[in-house]
Amino acid sequence: SIAPPTVALSGHFARALPEMAVPWQAEEAPAPRLLVLNEPLAAELGLDPAWLRGPEGVRLLVGNQVPDGATPVAQAYAGHQFGQYSPRLGDGRALLLGELAHADGHPRDLHLKGSGRTPFARGGDGLAAVGPMLREYVVSEAMHALGIPTTRALAVVATGRPVRRDTLLPGAVLARVASSHLRVGSFQYARATGDLDLLRRLADHAIARHHPAAAEAARPHLALFEAVVAAQASLVARWMLAGFIHGVMNTDNMTISGETIDYGPCAFLDAFEPATVYSSIDHGGRYAYGNQPRMAEWNLARLAESLLPLFADDQDQAIAVATEALDAFRPRYDAAWSAGMRAKLGLTDSLDETLTAELLTLLQANHVDHTSFYRRLAAAARGDAEPARELFLDLAAIDDWLTRWRSLGPDADAMDRVNPLYIPRNHLVEEALAAATTGDHGSFEHLLAALNRPCEQRPGLERYATPAPVDFGATYQTFCGT
Ligand code: AMP
Ligand code: MG
Ligand code: MG
Repeated sequence: SIAPPTVALSGHFARALPEMAVPWQAEEAPAPRLLVLNEPLAAELGLDPAWLRGPEGVRLLVGNQVPDGATPVAQAYAGHQFGQYSPRLGDGRALLLGELAHADGHPRDLHLKGSGRTPFARGGDGLAAVGPMLREYVVSEAMHALGIPTTRALAVVATGRPVRRDTLLPGAVLARVASSHLRVGSFQYARATGDLDLLRRLADHAIARHHPAAAEAARPHLALFEAVVAAQASLVARWMLAGFIHGVMNTDNMTISGETIDYGPCAFLDAFEPATVYSSIDHGGRYAYGNQPRMAEWNLARLAESLLPLFADDQDQAIAVATEALDAFRPRYDAAWSAGMRAKLGLTDSLDETLTAELLTLLQANHVDHTSFYRRLAAAARGDAEPARELFLDLAAIDDWLTRWRSLGPDADAMDRVNPLYIPRNHLVEEALAAATTGDHGSFEHLLAALNRPCEQRPGLERYATPAPVDFGATYQTFCGT
């Protein structure tokens, strides 16, 4: 059957960079069934939600109906995984269907995850289970609602094909939408081929797509690198302010656009503790909450290495300009974090660094819930310190801090606009996914509805604003590649 003319996928990446695009098809899903559809996002992409819910739409979303003229491809990339370089990763269980026009004028990738083995699958089965795909859906949409740049989730379709993990699980495909799927690892791959023309075409493609101002600079490829440094510094600052832990910041999971990508073992902090690690495979704590800025900088150094031949003909000069550009990461990160922290604390003047550092020490020492604290602090600005105070054991210390903070004249209403009540708390996500895996989607839909407007207090949602039960946090683990 023929897809309606509204599904116009351009195939731009596949045409521009054929060396990095393997034409491929999704595995046939025996019994596709739509589990969740993001109707507002569909509308932004000019897709008719009613059609997407129908049999042809669901076949598109699971990869079994390819619109006329589209060329689904598995994208090649390399990457450092936990510091170890792999020359060939690529989409092992994913496909880029092509690019769609978006209402804002910037194209978007339409991509499938869990669509079957590709030539990059190595030992993997190419599949994904319902739980982890719904997890990416809910966490990425929560990030978007928090205003944090991210890939989006368009739909999850159950395939009707079981997936073998520790047990047999129902399989699913996630339809994902992104500004692009260009990663640091894409540049590592292009560089490793030794084909300078390919590297240049990839860089020019990234400039045109994400950082067009770089094209006007004296050194466009250096300007591209500077733009990625700026975008990632701002992104990781946003993660830190929200208490988000990506969990697997390998270079293949870091975008050129500055969007958060590849929600695997990610999770939000409960208690504020920089050493927090939830991922079951992150034994060394490489991607611990507090390490994320340093890891982003490390990944950007790998991007600089990949781009080096484009920066200058002379290698010493190329290294010098790359180092200078990378040195901008820390001041940019610090500025973004400080501006965000000032807003969280309701302050308009510049941030008092001593006061802020003291707060972080107190939050950590008292195991205070990160999200609850900032939200409750607004009440303290209005004169009721009790909701914030009760999170602390050391009352003398927090009282002293609160007195000094209140003397700065914090704006409680402004705080309520930036400090969320509802985040995808680990215990709530697990509860919703467990129910959904057995076919009950009610708690998933309720959670999504709360997370869609994270800062807006609404009746009946109290349990979504409550920290995890004390027996939940200590042993919580998340898993990769499931
Ligand atoms: P990740 O770190 O989860 O983003 O994935 C790292 C690499 O493993 C990528 O090349 C993925 O495409 C690949 N991969 C992950 N899970 C699977 C799977 N079940 N089958 C095939 N490839 C996979
Ligand atoms: Mg990945
Ligand atoms: Mg992946």
